Amino acid sequence: MKEADGSKLVAQVQGLKGILNVAQIVVSSLDLDEVLQNILHSAMSVMDMPAGSVALYDANTYQLELRAHAGLSDKFVALDRWRVKPGGLTYEILERGEVFIVDDTASADFFKNPLAIEEGIRSLIAVPLKIHKRTIGVLYLDDFKSREFDAEKLELLSVLSSFATMSIDHARLHERTLQLACTDGLTGLYNHRQFKKTFTEEVARASRYSKPLAVILFDIDDFKKFNDTYGHPNGDIVLQEMAIMLKELLRDCDSLFRYGGEEFVTLLPETPLAEAVKVAERIRIFVETESPRFLTGITRARGITVSVGVAAHPDHGTDTQALLQKVDDLMYRAKKDGKNKVYCDLK
Ligand code: GH3
Ligand code: MG
Ligand code: MG
Repeated sequence: MKEADGSKLVAQVQGLKGILNVAQIVVSSLDLDEVLQNILHSAMSVMDMPAGSVALYDANTYQLELRAHAGLSDKFVALDRWRVKPGGLTYEILERGEVFIVDDTASADFFKNPLAIEEGIRSLIAVPLKIHKRTIGVLYLDDFKSREFDAEKLELLSVLSSFATMSIDHARLHERTLQLACTDGLTGLYNHRQFKKTFTEEVARASRYSKPLAVILFDIDDFKKFNDTYGHPNGDIVLQEMAIMLKELLRDCDSLFRYGGEEFVTLLPETPLAEAVKVAERIRIFVETESPRFLTGITRARGITVSVGVAAHPDHGTDTQALLQKVDDLMYRAKKDGKNKVYCDLK
């Protein structure tokens, strides 16, 4: 073997090792933010660039969202979502679907982005992240001086970007699967399984910091009769409307769950029992008075009502089991005593 062939082989082996190394890092996580950070840092290291970012593209809204960055000023990264405009650099990158290189921004007359100029970016590489023919994002690598980029390293970057795209796709799929596992398909609310998890966490937090935590259980009255009279699909609409109403009436920090078929439960952190009872009563009245309006298309005049139980930590217990038992008992007592009531056991 000639000496020249030998050194070529060594370089190729090194290149392969580099690819393997990068691939291992990039595919080592399923967490999207971590994946994006790994991609960015691997790419910066391969190309020896001091700064860069990764933006994900939403083809429905034509928007790019900045999801990872390094080596850039706060001012530069403050704009974290932008729409791709025809004629702009990003538009070009997405249109061409190929690696886009600017050796020296000072002599590139199309390079007009005032923020990038102020940032002092003198050279850049933009890599569209493509899966099949779909572009899902752009990886930008930046330097503050003009550069001439090595063709072999650019080759390596292109391989890296293929791994990157695959791992982004995997992480997103994983995110979606997790999301599906904790939400209810009909209402979009968190499901019973997620309730158990959140409830355990919230009770532990309330105990640790000696804070109150209220739990309210709502059960739609005579829902079986509603289904029998107006049909199951209309019953489904009621459940969806209930979810919308409850979400609107609760604070952002209160979490809402579909507890069972026609049962909803909400957790109100840092809320004492008396306060939660007021919230529950407000909701009960709202459902009674407003539901005929949102159900006009289905029932003409008839609305629905809810029976409600309210319990709180530490008043009725300091563990999930005791609190659930209490709120369940109270809700059933409200049912037995004629429904459309809030029961609470204020001491
Ligand atoms: P009560 O006033 O005592 O609460 O009576 P109820 O009829 O509301 O309660 P019951 O537990 O007897 O029946 C619950 C009903 O909820 C029966 C079931 O068909 C209905 N249901 C549960 N899940 C769904 C759903 O996803 N869609 C629809 N349309 N109905 C559902
Ligand atoms: Mg029920
Ligand atoms: Mg019911």
